[in-house]
Amino acid sequence: MSEATTPKIQKTDAEWRELLSPEQYRILRQAGTERAFTGPFWNSKEKGLYSCAACGEPLFVSDTKFDSGCGWPSYFEAVNPDAITELRDTTHGMVRTEVRCANCGGHLGHVFPDGPPPTGLRYCINGHSMTFEPMA
Ligand SMILES: [Zn+2]
Repeated sequence: MSEATTPKIQKTDAEWRELLSPEQYRILRQAGTERAFTGPFWNSKEKGLYSCAACGEPLFVSDTKFDSGCGWPSYFEAVNPDAITELRDTTHGMVRTEVRCANCGGHLGHVFPDGPPPTGLRYCINGHSMTFEPMA
């Protein structure tokens, strides 16, 4: 996990709006959440690499994806610890840990301590915040 430092990629709000779809913008730049079971990838079992939809930085690999039943793509580990930033989030009357792309600061989802071994973590990520590239 990297510290919450200034993201490497800095764009203006107008630039992000231009780059992203409205749903991607709402999630990545405004910390929105797609409705469960409505986004891409939540039930995908394809082998491949999941990258940030805003900046293309690799975030998760399919080997760490598991079926959590929560309606969002879920992983027990990031592709590497530096790929994501974790922040304390106290919105909506809960204390949660927000997960952001370390490269561009885009909001991805949250991490919960109820995942499977070996980490015991569940990275619950909005499908719209990622792109997918199949691997053989
Ligand atoms: Zn990013």
